[in-house]
Amino acid sequence: MSERGTYDELPPHYTDDVSNVPPTFQIGIHVSPPLVTLTEVQAHLRLLSAFAVLKSHVERGMEDPQCAWEVFLHKAVYRFDRFMSGKWTGPFPSWCEEVVPPLDVVMVWHTYLLNPKRYYEDSIRSETTFARRLAAMQSMPITLIASLIDPVSLEPTLPSYYREAFFELTSGLQFMYSIHTRTEDVVELTCPRCDAPNARVPWIVSGVGTGFGEAGFTYTCERCEREFTRAMMGVRKFCEEVARRRAGEKVYFAGTLIDGKEGEIVAKMRSFHIVQRIVHMFKLSKVYEEDDIIFQATELAKNMQWSTHEIALHVHHALIPQKKFRHGDHFFPRVQEVFDAYSGAGHASLDLVTCILHQSVFLQALEDMGWLDPRRFHSGCAQAPIFRAIARYHAFMDLIVAKNAGFLIPTLDIDLVWHTHQLSNENYREDTLRLLGHIPGHDDLLQPAVFQEMFRATATGWMNRFAKGEY
Ligand SMILES: [Zn+2]
Repeated sequence: MSERGTYDELPPHYTDDVSNVPPTFQIGIHVSPPLVTLTEVQAHLRLLSAFAVLKSHVERGMEDPQCAWEVFLHKAVYRFDRFMSGKWTGPFPSWCEEVVPPLDVVMVWHTYLLNPKRYYEDSIRSETTFARRLAAMQSMPITLIASLIDPVSLEPTLPSYYREAFFELTSGLQFMYSIHTRTEDVVELTCPRCDAPNARVPWIVSGVGTGFGEAGFTYTCERCEREFTRAMMGVRKFCEEVARRRAGEKVYFAGTLIDGKEGEIVAKMRSFHIVQRIVHMFKLSKVYEEDDIIFQATELAKNMQWSTHEIALHVHHALIPQKKFRHGDHFFPRVQEVFDAYSGAGHASLDLVTCILHQSVFLQALEDMGWLDPRRFHSGCAQAPIFRAIARYHAFMDLIVAKNAGFLIPTLDIDLVWHTHQLSNENYREDTLRLLGHIPGHDDLLQPAVFQEMFRATATGWMNRFAKGEY
């Protein structure tokens, strides 16, 4: 990495006549080879197009298309979780056709990767199978995956026998997802209160919306006959982590380990303080063995009244002891992150269904621009918009350095390349730490007014910096 003088003197980073990606880009004081290639962006576009086609198939002919899509997503997230926490049947990761999961699971993994900080933290904060697998799969082989999608119909190609078998042995589920859900379709869940398996939990409950594929999920356990919800499954997850940690396992709580701006591990002590506080408050006895873990987790959850809010209060007192928490106060961001992480079922520390739903807005915008049309970028000169987007992404990174900003608002084309870069979690972290000194946040959930204000500021900064460039 060579260094040049002040970057204010440099020419604009792209021209309108782009027929190739330059061999290097100036980002701050660094000269960097391209962080993302044309092939990767094209492959990513094909994958996004396949997601859009999948969504249209799920919604087609349904009375309530939005609802049908949400149920499908809940099932996809469940299938992803099973795949990631099941047994591998062979060595991993040596990417080839047979280990690529089905499209619905790829879609969930894709969304997870677009939250680089959460993904990374979940991959290192414990030694569960799920965490190890996240680490093993931190770089999506995007061109391989795109090659398993028909370029014209944008539907997944038929899997080989080995690919089906690999997924089915790993997850215990059928390779092929079902597009539609019937009222008789069920899922097996473990009761967070008594640990009994409940084999017949419905995905949908017509007219009530309490199925596991629906927002208002609640179920009465077949053994203990008490109700449980997603939030209670989240509380149970937290309490089990407390018990595992006390039994000597390596566990850090989600939302506490990675510092927001620097993206480096700085906060190992936070988990220590949280456990210390909880042990003190509930006078917990020692944890010795596996049986104890389950028992103590359940007892602690009872003490916490099965409430995520209760967890957050203890986290607040452990991490921010100098500030009293009053009824009606908002949690500090660092506490809110923990609250969010333990609000739902499954191993992931974020609500992947909501993340995918939010992504639909981005997909729709790309579709409206015609970027999801498979014929759009077929030949050399038709690829200019992608070359331009790649060049603009690097200029955007440079602008982040110049403005010393944690976060700026990208345009749609820049965002597409940004997402493509994030599909390789390790490269993304290394590249941004090296070039920017931090891993920029990618908050899609800003309030509209804040968003517009920041977008204006970004556009002004862009035009000031790149005299020729319209944002
Ligand atoms: Zn039960």
